[in-house]
Amino acid sequence: MSDGSAKLEAFRKEVRTWLRENLPKGWGTPEYKDPERFSTEAHELGKLWQKKLYDAGYAGFGYPKEYGGVERPPEEIAVIREELLRHGSPFGPLSLGLLMAAPTIMAHGEEWQKERFIPKILSGEESWCELFSEPNAGSDVANIQTTAVKEGDEWVVNGQKIWTSMWEFSDWGILAARSDPNAPRHHNLTCFIVDCKSPGYTKLPLKQMTGTSEFGEEYFDNVRIPDKNRLGEVNKGWGVILAGLMAERSGGGAFWGGMGGGRSATGGAARGIGMLSVKAIIDLAKETHHYGRAVWDDPVFRQKIANLAIEVEAMRYSGLRMVAKMRKGIMPTNEASIVKNFQAEMRRRQGDMVMEIIGAYSQLMRDSKRAIDGGEWVYQMMRARGATIEMGTSEINRNIIAERVLGLPR
Ligand SMILES: Cc1cc2nc3c(=O)[nH]c(=O)nc-3n(C[C@H](O)[C@H](O)[C@H](O)COP(=O)(O)OP(=O)(O)OC[C@H]3O[C@@H](n4cnc5c(N)ncnc54)[C@H](O)[C@@H]3O)c2cc1C
Repeated sequence: MSDGSAKLEAFRKEVRTWLRENLPKGWGTPEYKDPERFSTEAHELGKLWQKKLYDAGYAGFGYPKEYGGVERPPEEIAVIREELLRHGSPFGPLSLGLLMAAPTIMAHGEEWQKERFIPKILSGEESWCELFSEPNAGSDVANIQTTAVKEGDEWVVNGQKIWTSMWEFSDWGILAARSDPNAPRHHNLTCFIVDCKSPGYTKLPLKQMTGTSEFGEEYFDNVRIPDKNRLGEVNKGWGVILAGLMAERSGGGAFWGGMGGGRSATGGAARGIGMLSVKAIIDLAKETHHYGRAVWDDPVFRQKIANLAIEVEAMRYSGLRMVAKMRKGIMPTNEASIVKNFQAEMRRRQGDMVMEIIGAYSQLMRDSKRAIDGGEWVYQMMRARGATIEMGTSEINRNIIAERVLGLPR
């Protein structure tokens, strides 16, 4: 064994020991009960976990030290991620901080904004949301109607936002508002960092078909934002919005920030995407019988599962290519649309295939005692529909790929 690999093996042992000592009590055993999805308890567990990871130097990579970034060689980061995945570990806080806010502030923020906000995102202490969509400005985000009017050194904001993920737990939001009623589209928006506890800021839950209130809506009634919280230049908000969307679609910010571990104690997100889910589907296919034969022995299903494994691997490499680009300081642009679309559509196909495997049990959700795996598969199948809409719908992302990547006419 070379010196390098011996050192890396020693590091792996160190991470494993740390995980054994720090994961929640009973983690990974049948007795451990995950907190309810999107509950305060889940959020607090995520915050605590991210803080522990960060304090141990196992999260917060990819950002300069002066903004709280943790420096580590890439091979150690890879070991940390592998071990987190292997052990399963709690998700981070219910926040868009790592995924969207930190990369956007990094790209467009002033010095004080980077110093003030990024460290607390990396350590999970403060949670964020993205306040872009409105009832008439979803795909057409340039049609934002919420107004921001300058009064002295403050902006006064009025309007409504909708479909806001992690609405309930956010301390801060990145808000896009129309700052010039007369300027043409794409030149009339400004972005702000808004304190979600500001007077005049009201938030309400919206129920999704999954039964959860993962997203909500907000009303701005004369909310005052200091000009120093403006993110980027006046009327240049379009560029800030694009940076935010591209960071989200690529997932790179979350990857480098070291977002959680990627699954719950009982394997919850293992039913989401990735190789863990392929393994979980194989197990399900082995345990489920159709007409006296295990689904796993049916050549049609085996082919479908093999196809999924190939897709997951292809997605992983596309994601890694983009992350490598980000490591060189290049923000991913249109490729992010490819990865986002592939991931979301794959998730949808995967959910549909699982429904074919479990057959009539696909009608039972988690409120039924007889639902398979507590209704987790059915939840994932339904949530996958949201994945094809959030961060830009599949149609919009295909338009971007057609025009900007393939050079096809509009
Ligand atoms: C789970 C989830 C989480 C979300 N989280 C957030 C969040 O945190 N913050 C936030 O700001 N927003 C969030 N959104 C909102 C999301 O960005 C919008 O729902 C999305 O952009 C689509 O907008 P819309 O719902 O208004 O649909 P519309 O824009 O009205 O689209 C309706 C349909 O028309 C199609 N369509 C529209 N325009 C075109 C076109 N030019 N070409 C082809 N087809 C088109 C769309 O693809 C879609 O099928 C979230 C959405 C979901 C589902």
